[in-house]
Amino acid sequence: MKVPAPAFYQMKQVPTEEEWKKKLTQEQYRVLREKGTEMAFTGKYVHNRRKGMYHCAACGNELFSSGTKFDSGTGWPSFDKPKNRENVELRKDFSHGMLRTEVLCGKCGSHLGHVFDDGPSETGQRYCINSCALDFKEKK
Ligand code: FE
Repeated sequence: MKVPAPAFYQMKQVPTEEEWKKKLTQEQYRVLREKGTEMAFTGKYVHNRRKGMYHCAACGNELFSSGTKFDSGTGWPSFDKPKNRENVELRKDFSHGMLRTEVLCGKCGSHLGHVFDDGPSETGQRYCINSCALDFKEKK
């Protein structure tokens, strides 16, 4: 049974967890739907320098442009801003004894990573995003 999505979701009907499980790999499901974190330096986009757009691996929503990506040295793809502010949802996250800001997909509500205020560019932000939560489409 499909459940109505919370107000912020742009998606009207969000797939059930069973449907997500069929659509995503085990690792993607763990990160996107169970708020997991992939191991540093293991993700396929950490060192990706190609030009294009990073989409939500769950729903395809456009999230981050390659022009905003920078090397943070953390082992996760890092961006100084989202493509559009409304394409992501930010929430306070008190898990693991820390106060952090969680980044979720604004369309489907899947977990993407966290954003920190120590970015090196003029935005001052560092969106620290799991590779497996992203689907990169190269600009030809
Ligand atoms: Fe999404």
